[in-house]
Amino acid sequence: MRPVEKTGTAPEESAYWFVFHRDRMLLNEAAQGLAMIPTAASAEELGVYPHTTLCIGQYNDKPCFAADVSMGIPPSRSMRFSELRPLIGMLPDQLFCRAGTAFQLIHWERTWRFCPRCAAPLYPKPGERAKTCHACSFTGYPPISPAVIVAVVRDGKLLLAHSSRFRAGLYSVLAGFVEAGETLEECVRREIREEVNIEVADIRYFGSMSWPFPHSLMVGFTARHAAGEIAADQAEIDDAGWFTADALPELLPVKGTLSRQLIDWFVSGEADGRAE
Ligand SMILES: [Zn+2]
Repeated sequence: MRPVEKTGTAPEESAYWFVFHRDRMLLNEAAQGLAMIPTAASAEELGVYPHTTLCIGQYNDKPCFAADVSMGIPPSRSMRFSELRPLIGMLPDQLFCRAGTAFQLIHWERTWRFCPRCAAPLYPKPGERAKTCHACSFTGYPPISPAVIVAVVRDGKLLLAHSSRFRAGLYSVLAGFVEAGETLEECVRREIREEVNIEVADIRYFGSMSWPFPHSLMVGFTARHAAGEIAADQAEIDDAGWFTADALPELLPVKGTLSRQLIDWFVSGEADGRAE
């Protein structure tokens, strides 16, 4: 069943509550995994008073609600507001996906308040996850920004790079946002060329992951080096190199991310058949 918007109405059964204050989500501090997400029949029972509440579907046969609160004080001493990103790998994957959905939709509620065409207020569109303008009939949907992420292999080595945005010592596979009018494969070739000045071939789909910071969709690929030597652009990428599986950089992306899945794919040896 497609989730529909529900505002200000409490469910009658116990539900999972993804409660946000700014970019932080309410958690049971001492709990682990599933129990980190507060459950209650209503926001009031939980001790929070959201100005926005959205039904975002179900998990484990329980309804899931996203809520946005103005006050950043946890309702009890056993709770705290936490950033979402460190929860990757701490929450079960499916539950992190629900938290990501909640975060994206709350962000959308906050930022899509007025019509981008005529500036009149936007209203929920009945039966759809959409907003509509009563003045000019504009309809808008939650934005999703696709980005590619690529594991490039050459002679049994993996291309890893340090971005100027990363902390010192952290290396990952290359990634970049898809531009208007571009295919995913064109984006792979352009990003690799722009950031490290090499050409790639044999681009193959690997998998995808929602990346709710705030609304990306990461699309993973593997590729083979085709031509050129690495020359980091020194803008987005300040260092890059070819690494063997037994001599990887000390700091890699955390488990649970698509970038780490690509690196683990290389380490597992599945890339061997693809090396030049
Ligand atoms: Zn309008």
